[in-house]
Amino acid sequence: MYTEPPARAGAASPTVHRVVVEERGSFCFAGCSCGWFAPGRRSRDRARRDAEEHLADPGPFD
Ligand SMILES: [Zn+2]
Repeated sequence: MYTEPPARAGAASPTVHRVVVEERGSFCFAGCSCGWFAPGRRSRDRARRDAEEHLADPGPFD
């Protein structure tokens, strides 16, 4: 594990990836503070996995 530096408003800081899984009706969506989001999933587990995959490999959003 590593510790994230605290986000400072207005400062040039590296992209912070804070993932949330949101439920909307019967679908779950994983989204990240960097602007990334996953398509709706019927399974909360699947949405969580999307989130984990994003954190492991943020790709172009890094
Ligand atoms: Zn992200």
